[in-house]
Amino acid sequence: MVQEFEVCTCEEGMVNISEKIADALKKIGIREGICLIFVPHTTAGITINEATDCDVSKDILAGLDALTPHLGYKHAEGNSLAHIKASLIGSSVTIPVTDGKLYLGPWQGVFLCEFDGPRVRKIRVNCVGA
Ligand code: ZN
Repeated sequence: MVQEFEVCTCEEGMVNISEKIADALKKIGIREGICLIFVPHTTAGITINEATDCDVSKDILAGLDALTPHLGYKHAEGNSLAHIKASLIGSSVTIPVTDGKLYLGPWQGVFLCEFDGPRVRKIRVNCVGA
């Protein structure tokens, strides 16, 4: 009921991981239930959004930039904006599973949001069902 995989990110951005999650779901082998997708990192997030027009991802990143001004943060590592964006996006999504597949809308995809790359990010997939 658990699978884990890694994604190498080149830079800040959104990476469509829908197919990797579908592969993990096949290995897990449930037909009906729910699937939790979790990223165990503090400067990356997981979200569901449009996967057909890559400009949507660019616009989301531009919107997040507009929401997160440079305020002279105290965090010594110097990546406070990445931490803030990760909290705004969140570290998990939950998706229904039906007939062995993620129940996503026709335009939806699951994205790893990298705010501090390049990095190697773990993605954990936990499913409950039968
Ligand atoms: Zn940090």
